[in-house]
Amino acid sequence: MGELLSGMDDDEGGESSSEVSEAVENELVRLLNKVIVDAHRQGVSDIHIEPQPGKGRTGIRFRKDGVLVPYIEVPASYRDALVARVKIMCDLDISERRKPQDGKIRFRKYGPLDIELRVATIPSAGGVEDVVMRILQAGEPIPLDRLGVSDANLARLRPAIEKPYGLFFVCGPTGSGKTTTLHSILHHLNTPETKIWTAEDPVEITQKGLRQVQVNRKAGLDFASVMRAFLRADPDVIMVGEMRDRETVGTAIEASLTGHLVLATLHTNSAPESIVRLMDMGMDPFNFADALLGVLAQRLARRLCLHCRQPYHPDGGEIDGLLAEYCEDLAGTAAFRADPGAARAAVLAGWRQRHADQQGRFTLYRAVGCEECNRGYRGRVGLHELMLGTERLKRLVVEHARVAALLSAALEDGMQTLKMDGIDKVLLGATDIKMVRAVCIR
Ligand SMILES: [Zn+2]
Repeated sequence: MGELLSGMDDDEGGESSSEVSEAVENELVRLLNKVIVDAHRQGVSDIHIEPQPGKGRTGIRFRKDGVLVPYIEVPASYRDALVARVKIMCDLDISERRKPQDGKIRFRKYGPLDIELRVATIPSAGGVEDVVMRILQAGEPIPLDRLGVSDANLARLRPAIEKPYGLFFVCGPTGSGKTTTLHSILHHLNTPETKIWTAEDPVEITQKGLRQVQVNRKAGLDFASVMRAFLRADPDVIMVGEMRDRETVGTAIEASLTGHLVLATLHTNSAPESIVRLMDMGMDPFNFADALLGVLAQRLARRLCLHCRQPYHPDGGEIDGLLAEYCEDLAGTAAFRADPGAARAAVLAGWRQRHADQQGRFTLYRAVGCEECNRGYRGRVGLHELMLGTERLKRLVVEHARVAALLSAALEDGMQTLKMDGIDKVLLGATDIKMVRAVCIR
């Protein structure tokens, strides 16, 4: 990167000019290609181009593992040409500088990688334009058992998704890895005997054997209309990338009750909340309860770097703190209402059995930081909350139970909340409590 930037002096003239020489143009093409190739190689999800008005340099930052990291700064004189170059790559109108635009770069036309980027341009203060490019994570699905789901959750998940029909949801905010998880589930179900239709926006992960449909709202092809088309197209399994409206949910319930397995994502925070949200859309509670196989809520917490994390034995106070935080979520369960002391002791005994050494000591890790990582963290670990459609839960759905009642029942049926699964992963040394708290805000 240094040699590319060294050719780009800060222009004494300061202001960016729209007249750019051919040499500079070539330089910019190389620079932008290098930025994209670097970003892809580093496993970056988004590239942010942030120009300043006047003589300010244009900053470029990368989002990696959910966190922004400064990458380079580009001289002011290249600002407009840089943004124009991005627009050309995704066929946007370079003369339109006052309205947001969105497009897509098929990078193999320009560089050595077969990847796609989703581009958004936004006019910002000072008469400049910001650009954010998302690198679509084209690639292979991750096998279900390598997804970071705990053994206990995997043993509960498999039978639920192997049912021939019903409704299964994966929920969480944007960027929590829902699509990756759904594709792992589809990978598990993908056999020559099974017809699998998917409706996605965008199609990121492709799998041989799936029939994948790119939703295109501008062309009138929305999730609801694709769903209806699937029902006429002899499906076994249907995956719907996004379920936000009553019509799509209603069609999904209908499909699952007529013998299809329907998988979908929801933008909800927790598994119990998803149930309430769907019921509040006006679904028939009996049909919904009948169809419901389960809801998997998910987060990605930053993972401690294995090269530099520093082990230590926590004192009793630190373990007590973790225990209190773990047990907060269990407060409404029958065991805790009957005898909180005994219930806490049982949790601690379970931890000792699973995580402690022969002297009964736990090992936790501190983030340190090395050349391999970003301040002690590298990659992310999934946290999961798997609520299954048990008989008791279905009964509660029919009774229009609210979140607290659904939560207690699910916990008694063996669910762990996101926070609980996160604390287990702290005790395993995969992450630390700070990173678990950061993604488990309710
Ligand atoms: Zn490190």
